[in-house]
Amino acid sequence: MYIKSLRLQNFRNYVEQELFFDPTTNVFCGGNAQGKTNLLEVLYLFSMGKSFRTQQDAELIRFGTDFTRAELVFCDRNREQTLEIIILRDRKKQIKINGLSISKLSELIGNLHVVLFYPEELGLVKDGPYARRRFMDVALSQLRPAYYHVLGQYHRTLEQRNKLIKKIRFSESEAMRDTVFVWNEKLVDYGIELIAYRTAFMEELQALAQKTHYEASKEELTLSYRPRFSDRQSFLDKLESSFSREVEQGCTLYGPHRDDFEIFINGKDAKSFASQGQQRSAVLSLKLAQADLLFKEYGEYPVLLLDDIMSELDKERRAYLAGRIPDKQVFITCTDLDGLLERGKVFTVTNGCATENK
Ligand code: ATP
Ligand code: MG
Repeated sequence: MYIKSLRLQNFRNYVEQELFFDPTTNVFCGGNAQGKTNLLEVLYLFSMGKSFRTQQDAELIRFGTDFTRAELVFCDRNREQTLEIIILRDRKKQIKINGLSISKLSELIGNLHVVLFYPEELGLVKDGPYARRRFMDVALSQLRPAYYHVLGQYHRTLEQRNKLIKKIRFSESEAMRDTVFVWNEKLVDYGIELIAYRTAFMEELQALAQKTHYEASKEELTLSYRPRFSDRQSFLDKLESSFSREVEQGCTLYGPHRDDFEIFINGKDAKSFASQGQQRSAVLSLKLAQADLLFKEYGEYPVLLLDDIMSELDKERRAYLAGRIPDKQVFITCTDLDGLLERGKVFTVTNGCATENK
């Protein structure tokens, strides 16, 4: 699939902007702090309904103004669709698909498929479990929109259960205890469903990532997702047996909200042993595998958003990447062109204004 055009009003440092993209490569080139990543950010916003840089939608509104509006047209094999997002301060954002308002974010996710690679994501290898869970959640939400729904249910249940556990800490009553056991059932149902999705996803991802990684770097990449529970009963038993510890600590101690996966390169734990370069390659392999999975599922390659990738990858890996994506749509940011473009369009970005180089 590819993005045809974008229109912005008051988005970050853009006042008014209209851009028409190439179905292959699009480069946003300019100095630091001019607005290159802001453009990738808005494209991503149309895919996931959220920014990858902030949880606060209002930050996307240009300083000194009180709303932002963005419109995007994209095409897949079958048709052309228009997406629109309006964000006002202190109000729920409005999203429209082909002119019709939607009420849930889940209706947006899964329409426009994008895979993002940006420097901070190098934490995927070295950071704590949160980064890897987030990767699974974002990737799976696009791949299987039903997953996003279950994830929401799980987190709402978890929140309720945690609230109750905190209350019990201060006033132990039998009735409250019984209510927790009711929440356990729900938590376990949603939790086991999430685990099943993640298990299947990680298996498929592992096969694709391993292949890509070997082609790009001749190293063996292994991903290992080993959930603590794979059946209802063991999860339920654990919740029941750790109840008093949970009350002591005031939160739910077990479940997929604590999940993680391990990354090995040539059999060694990447978290402890991978060099910077190896981390970058591993992240790139994960991302390309994520894109391949979307292709496998939908028969269309997602749009790739590559932030600052030139400074992140060496020559060989850039060449490998270029070889992998010749006829797909990709958006790349860079500070200088450096022989980057063989086809497609270049936009020069200066102080919140992007102009196409002719
Ligand atoms: P770099 O090469 O350093 O990554 P960049 O071109 O990717 O730079 P962006 O992150 O896209 O830069 O844009 C940053 C600019 O946008 C900063 O100057 C910042 O002050 C400005 N900016 C961010 N949010 C807003 C906002 N809400 N209103 C106005 N300007 C904003
Ligand atoms: Mg940037």
